[in-house]
Amino acid sequence: MSKSVDYQGAWQLMMNAGTLALVSHLGPDGDTLGSTLALGEALKRAGKKVILFVDDDIPHTFRFMPGVETYQLPKADVPVPCDLTVVVDASSKDRMGAAEDCLSAPILNIDHHISNTHYADWLLLDPKAAATGEIMYLMFQANGVELTETMALNLYTAIVTDCGFFKYANTTSRCMMAAADLLQYSIQPNEISDLLEMKSRDTIELLAKVLPSMTFYADGRISTMEIPYELYNKEISTDSFIYYPRYIDGVEAAVMFKQVEPNQTRVSMRSRNVDVSAVALSFGGGGHVRAAGCTIGAPLPEAKKRLLEVLIKAVEEA
Ligand code: AMP
Ligand code: MN
Ligand code: MN
Repeated sequence: MSKSVDYQGAWQLMMNAGTLALVSHLGPDGDTLGSTLALGEALKRAGKKVILFVDDDIPHTFRFMPGVETYQLPKADVPVPCDLTVVVDASSKDRMGAAEDCLSAPILNIDHHISNTHYADWLLLDPKAAATGEIMYLMFQANGVELTETMALNLYTAIVTDCGFFKYANTTSRCMMAAADLLQYSIQPNEISDLLEMKSRDTIELLAKVLPSMTFYADGRISTMEIPYELYNKEISTDSFIYYPRYIDGVEAAVMFKQVEPNQTRVSMRSRNVDVSAVALSFGGGGHVRAAGCTIGAPLPEAKKRLLEVLIKAVEEA
C-alpha cells in the first residue's frame, strides 16, 4: 500500500532528491508524455539531474512536444542509479516496462486512474483529475513553481489528450480553468488540435480495411472492431479508430481489438456509463470508468471471446 502525499508532499520528495528518473507508461500518450516533460523541465530548473524513460517508440503525433527527443529507452540489465523514481500517469507497475527492472530507487507515482494498484512507495492520486497533466499543473501552482512556454505547451497537450478537447465526462471546471491559464503562455489551441488530430494516409487506408469488421452484440449495445495480426503495423497509428464503434446510436460500450503479436491482443474500451475499467482490471489492465484497456495473452478470436463474456454481463447488469 502506498503512502498518500499531497501537492506539497510530492514536491518536497522531489526537492530532497538530487537525481530523478521520470518514467512514462508503455504505449505513451499525450498525457503521460506532456506531464513527464513538464515535470522534467520544472525539476531541471530547480537544479536537479533528470533522466526520462519510456519503454516504447514515441508515436509521430507527439514528436512536436518540446523535449520529447530527450527520452531514453530503459534497458532491463543496465541499472540506473538515482535517488527517486517518479512514475507518471501509470496505474500499475508493469506499465513501466523495462524501467521497472533498471530502477531500484523508491517510487513516487503521480496518477489519475481509478484503477491505481498502489504499487508505489508514495502516491499522489486524484481520480477526479481529467489528466495527470491537470494534477501536475495544480502541484506546480501549490508549490509556486513558475511555468515556461514549453511547460505550458506540454501540460496543455496532456490535458486536451485525456479529456478529448473538453468533450469527455472527465471535463470539469477545474480542468478547463487549468487549460485556460495555460493558454496565456502563447499556445494556439487550433495548432495543437491540428497536430493531434492529423492522420497519415496509411491510417485512413487501414481504417478502410478495418471498418468492415464492425460487429454488434447485446442487442446493439456493444460494438467491436478488430485489427488482425496480418493487418497490424506498429508504425500506423490506430488510436482514433475507437471513435467509429463508439459514436453509434444505441451503443453503450465500444471495443477495439488489436492483435499485436500472434498470441497477444491489445484491447481498448470506451463506454457511456458501464464501468469498463473494472472489466479491464479483471484482465490485468486498467483505466477509467469510461475509457480502459488491457492486453490479453491470446490470439484475437480467443481474446475477443473471453472479453465479450465479461463485457456482455457488465452491460446487461447495468
Ligand atoms: P486506450 O484505450 O489505450 O486509449 O486506453 C484507455 C485508458 O485505459 C487509458 O487511461 C490507459 O491508461 C488505460 N489502459 C490502457 N491499457 C492499459 C493496460 N494494459 N493497463 C492499464 N491501463 C491501461
Ligand atoms: Mn495515459
Ligand atoms: Mn492520463
